[in-house]
Amino acid sequence: MKSLFISILISFNLVSQIELNLSSDLSNQNHSSSPLIEKFTPKSNDLSPGEVQKEAPENQTLKALVDSVIIFPLGTNSCKLTYKGDQNRFATFIALHENETASVAAYLDIASSLPNTALFRLNQFGQRNLRYKTNDNTYHFDPNRIFSLVGIKNTLLKLNPNVKSIPLEVEEGIKRFSDSLLSIFRPELDSGYLVAIHNNTNNNFSVRSYVNSKNVIATYVNSNEDIDNFYIVNTLSDFEYFKSINRNVVYQSEEGLDDGSLSIYCTKNNIRYINIEVEMGNVNKHREMIQEVYSLFKQKWK
Ligand SMILES: [Zn+2]
Repeated sequence: MKSLFISILISFNLVSQIELNLSSDLSNQNHSSSPLIEKFTPKSNDLSPGEVQKEAPENQTLKALVDSVIIFPLGTNSCKLTYKGDQNRFATFIALHENETASVAAYLDIASSLPNTALFRLNQFGQRNLRYKTNDNTYHFDPNRIFSLVGIKNTLLKLNPNVKSIPLEVEEGIKRFSDSLLSIFRPELDSGYLVAIHNNTNNNFSVRSYVNSKNVIATYVNSNEDIDNFYIVNTLSDFEYFKSINRNVVYQSEEGLDDGSLSIYCTKNNIRYINIEVEMGNVNKHREMIQEVYSLFKQKWK
């Protein structure tokens, strides 16, 4: 039985980064009884910045599927990046919008059948958007619009319409946050994937939103499928794969408008990316789509 040890590295001087040395055996987990879960599971609004350090005793129930937390300052606020999964991962699942709870529930339901993956999720106040706080004000921003400077500026302008000018320290603080996230998310393998998991609301945003868009190379819509459930990919082979199994799928263009999304960032930086979009509340469909993505990965490992 390998022991489990979590050590802390301080990077940038603002970010506590957790390095995990974990058993890679993901099967037969009983993670709900793990004391580390209790230790590291975020409590709502309990977000004091600081470091997390824990050396766990050898214990049959403590393997890879424990939660760990990395804390980021957002001015005088902070937010948490909660991590669960396999250190030697082929694919990193990412939940940026905290209120899209069905996507996280779907992954966690089947996590033990997804070896070589990990899930990162942002936690702050349970909302879609995060809040950066200065001594004078609180600034809202969309965590899926921060992966470029123009995206950061635009999300701050859009979500804080009553603020005359956004202080430079806020833009710079959010840029440091996004740089840190990207350094953590970036796949170790050239062939590795980032997989974003999102929920949307009925017919508000769907695969049809992309038809004839200049931001995409191609769109495939199966008229028998709910248009709210679809994939966004950035390689032709992945587009062909989902089309071949009759799933709604969008092929993101490298020439797409830079909105600061993770999708555009990955496409412009040659990182293989899949976005799983599912209508809110449909955990069954989300599980099914995660499993379809995982089947695609298993084909690539052969
Ligand atoms: Zn989302």
